[in-house]
Amino acid sequence: MAETKQPSKKVQLERIRNIGIIAHIDAGKTTTTERVLYYTGKSYKIGDIDEGTTQMDWMEQERERGITIMSAATTTFWTLKEEGAVPDGAYRINIIDTPGHVDFTAEVERSLRVLDGAVMVFDAEEGVQSQSETVWRQADRYHVPRICFINKMDKLGADFERTIGMVKERLGAKVAILAYPIGAEKDFQGIVLVLEKKAFVWDDDKDPKGENPQEIEIPENLVSKIEKIREELVETISETDTRLTEKFLNGEKIGVIELKKALRKAAVANQLIPIYTGASLRNKGVQPMLDGIVNFLPHPLDVPPVEGVNPQNEQAEKRPPEAKAPLAALAFKIQTDPHVGRLTYLRIYSGTLKPGDNVLNATANKQERIGRLLLMHANQREEIKQAEAGEIVAVVGLKETTTGDTLCDKNKPLVLESIKFPDPVISLAIEPKTRADQEKLSYALKKLSEEDPTFKISSDRETGQTIISGMGELHLEIIADRMKREFKVEASTGRPQVAYKETIKKTASAEGKYIRQSGGRGQYGHCLLRLEPLGRGEGFEFANEIRGTAVPSEYIPAIEKGVKEAMENGVLAGYPVVDLKAAVYDGSYHEVDSSEIAFKIAGSIALQAAAKQADLVLLEPIMKIEVTTPEEFMGDVIGDLSAKRSQILGTEIRGKTRVIKGQVPLAEIPGYATTLRSMTQGRASFYLEPSHYEEVPSQIAEKIILAKKGGRTAA
Ligand code: GDP
Repeated sequence: MAETKQPSKKVQLERIRNIGIIAHIDAGKTTTTERVLYYTGKSYKIGDIDEGTTQMDWMEQERERGITIMSAATTTFWTLKEEGAVPDGAYRINIIDTPGHVDFTAEVERSLRVLDGAVMVFDAEEGVQSQSETVWRQADRYHVPRICFINKMDKLGADFERTIGMVKERLGAKVAILAYPIGAEKDFQGIVLVLEKKAFVWDDDKDPKGENPQEIEIPENLVSKIEKIREELVETISETDTRLTEKFLNGEKIGVIELKKALRKAAVANQLIPIYTGASLRNKGVQPMLDGIVNFLPHPLDVPPVEGVNPQNEQAEKRPPEAKAPLAALAFKIQTDPHVGRLTYLRIYSGTLKPGDNVLNATANKQERIGRLLLMHANQREEIKQAEAGEIVAVVGLKETTTGDTLCDKNKPLVLESIKFPDPVISLAIEPKTRADQEKLSYALKKLSEEDPTFKISSDRETGQTIISGMGELHLEIIADRMKREFKVEASTGRPQVAYKETIKKTASAEGKYIRQSGGRGQYGHCLLRLEPLGRGEGFEFANEIRGTAVPSEYIPAIEKGVKEAMENGVLAGYPVVDLKAAVYDGSYHEVDSSEIAFKIAGSIALQAAAKQADLVLLEPIMKIEVTTPEEFMGDVIGDLSAKRSQILGTEIRGKTRVIKGQVPLAEIPGYATTLRSMTQGRASFYLEPSHYEEVPSQIAEKIILAKKGGRTAA
């Protein structure tokens, strides 16, 4: 029998790529992912998003809408065939499915946290779009190296060079053009690999699935162009490496393998961005991009050891990406799978995980037992016996773990930096259609909020109604839809309400006193509180400034709790109070009657009293908006936006269309999709993204407060 050599552990890790495919909605992320799954051999049939049969989109209604929301992680394999490649064995590419719609930027952010590298897909006609910019900046923030895929080269108006220009200018990227398109629009045929000086075309008739690109001579009209690009490329790569710089300056020839090695280093260090191009829908250009993922995106050993905090001593500690090191893994996604139940997706940074292991959830400080370990392929699951540092797995059987929690070795506790999610900006009331649906509704909401940390459930204090909150109208619509389909709950929803907040504008102090003396043991809590405004988004700070023993320190946490509770309930109009510092600076207590509960109530009273004197105002979410419209409607669109209290920040020409950029209060644009459609005969599109919170103008605030106090009927 032939001896099969097992690659060493190190080599195994070097052959893993944990990547995401990110893009502006409609740039072709789903189609590209689908093709990647097809060519990597794990999916059996090319599904076309337009026909709604993609493999990554698990949920029915995602297919219907043609958008991807959930971060499922899919494992695939790819073998390099080029010169200088590792001779045997495939590379394992784990694709973290990043959501494509803007309402889910928080989900993109969460996925970026666990990726080692990303493929950024652009539409060659549209170029760099607003969401591409947003996710690009997020990837910068998490130091995620990227390669780009300029997609849709077959589309009318496709322009490779213009798109590259935008990538350089708008995103400030230093690019390494590795593939150059042969033809454009309906004449797009294939690509030239610039370093190798090899041209490939995909023949639609002979090879409809694009499985066998044919090598051809570089078309004559491109020869000098390719020479020029290659020269620039060699210079750009050489600049990143002292030895190569020297060779370059001496006019020595530098080999392709040498150049690729240097480019890999520069790309992994985020200095250079390799560029590929093609048309996923036409099955062109995808395989070279897959080679690019393997060649130029980091493997788990390329990333620095993960850092966390030891909860026992609050000291920072590092964990190397080694199977023998203590376990440290981050839960980045919870998903309810119809067949196996609750799945927790983990990125293992360090150590080894086996079924039956008892581990510590260091974030929640609870023990968890690992059930089955699964690798999720595009259309099947594979049960595995162990998973190690650098891998991404799904675990069955975790009960206490939620998104962002760290699982670790019981004896080596560590909390990795959790994933931060923005607060919801919109909410609506939801009611079961029948009494029988009530229980199902609560269950469904609980499950859905476990999966999605940007989806929150609360209840209205006055009406007792259940309120759901999320990142946009579409987000809540999809949740309502899933409830119906997956959980069979019939529910009716109210009109979407903007999630206002309250804050203070000046410093003020007040007293909170809760004293009851009746017969036996009474109640005694008393504190003096000073409130100071903080900057937008800074949240809440609490300080204990009591000198001496006016209030024993054991009661201070109770005061803080009371303050927080009162803030959540709101003072002006029942919206949560944010962005302030509360300092307790004095008070008194009673030997017998004082209790935690009394101080908590005193804290609440003090907060309310002080806030009322601190110039309370309402804050509203402001959205970043971008409308793309044919030129003839530009005036109408701007006019309408201006009437909606927006600020127009600028306009831009993109081919025959105009892009209007601005900011608009969320409260002004319910149902904007309909408004825009009727104003532009359906020819404009728009993009919205939560930006920040701003003070509501006082006349409008008055109306909102009145409506809120007058009951729930007004919007
Ligand atoms: P996503 O929103 O980024 O996931 O984009 P999709 O993959 O859903 O694609 C959006 C639309 O663009 C769909 O109608 C696709 O058929 C189309 N599309 C994707 N790739 C290409 C391409 O290479 N060329 C052309 N012409 N259209 C494409």
